[in-house]
Amino acid sequence: MPLRMWTYDLAREQVPTLDHLRRFCDLTLESGYDAIGLYLEHRFAYPSVPWVHGKGCLTPEMVQALQSEYKTLQIIPFINLLGHFEGFLYAEAGVPNAESKFRGMQACPSKPNFVELANQILQDTLDVFSSQIVHIGGDETFQLGSCPECKRRVAEYEQKIGVDGKAKLYGEHFGAGTIPVAIEGNSPQPEPRYPVGFAHPKVLAGSPTYPLDVIAGLSPDRRSLRIAVVNATFKAQSFEINLGGLQTRAGGKLWRLSGKNLEAANKVGQPPGVSIREEKAPALSRGLTVPPISTSIYEFPLRQAVN
Ligand SMILES: [Zn+2]
Repeated sequence: MPLRMWTYDLAREQVPTLDHLRRFCDLTLESGYDAIGLYLEHRFAYPSVPWVHGKGCLTPEMVQALQSEYKTLQIIPFINLLGHFEGFLYAEAGVPNAESKFRGMQACPSKPNFVELANQILQDTLDVFSSQIVHIGGDETFQLGSCPECKRRVAEYEQKIGVDGKAKLYGEHFGAGTIPVAIEGNSPQPEPRYPVGFAHPKVLAGSPTYPLDVIAGLSPDRRSLRIAVVNATFKAQSFEINLGGLQTRAGGKLWRLSGKNLEAANKVGQPPGVSIREEKAPALSRGLTVPPISTSIYEFPLRQAVN
């Protein structure tokens, strides 16, 4: 099912009226889109979390009214359940959920009260929104592992060789999905040239595989290895892969997303600027080569499932 969506950010203290939102819904449909995302953070009156309701925030009644008026439009909630939690953390009742007291914008995944709060937020969202899709944001989590309990868990996970403790903590918080695999590279990221805004420390977002961004993970059944490679350069790039103890057993699948330039996008009524192709990937030997301006996702079956 194609999804054509744009997102409206309500989280910067926007005070939308119902009429204001109706205008956006009309515009969405007139433009040939079938979905609108509402980026919520703390600006939604979650029924179970009354202490965070700010003045003029979006209410369940408003969402229900829009859903009954715009039956062909999918209204997709965007919530944040770890980073970008500052709207909750700086409300008095939310302070104990923070990873570091009065610093940053991340909640602590080791605090049972926060985990319960995250479940309440998700349940309220599912109760109110009829959308088949709920977007759960997991970004801005650079504080992960800074409180004493998270630090202890990270150290405990890392007793096992090859385990990235923070990635495991993160994976456990967001559920039993893909299992992250630590990536080591021999090409560090250059220092960021432009500082980014408030509360963003100087962090290197990419993997040590510059100029490529590489992430790898095991499928939930631990029988395949998935590797995603983003090449945002104008040259084909090759890199070597050392799988450590893992052994793939045959060729795999490859999904490749590419466009003519970095700004390529799909626009309504025009031929697609970005395409996704599924191909067969030859068996993994020593390296992979990825074309310019592309995202490639490989999946290779493993000789033995990993414990
Ligand atoms: Zn913590």
